[in-house]
Amino acid sequence: MPRIEDDIDAPQQADMEEFGSEFIKCPKCLAKIYDDVDWCHKCGHALGAAEETKVKPWILITGMVLLASFLLWMVL
Ligand SMILES: [Zn+2]
Repeated sequence: MPRIEDDIDAPQQADMEEFGSEFIKCPKCLAKIYDDVDWCHKCGHALGAAEETKVKPWILITGMVLLASFLLWMVL
């Protein structure tokens, strides 16, 4: 009964297409990554609007550390 095998194949192909729509290509390294992630797990490239929120804390922390060391240097 080969027709049952055909029926099994059809939904599997549909599942594959559904999975394909959940992936996007990283613009930097072209790796397949999930659509809802904030950055590429392979090269770390930030995606979309998440880039700004990921970068800003780093700038704040770096600025605070630099300010603290500058103040310490002024006192000493
Ligand atoms: Zn990447």
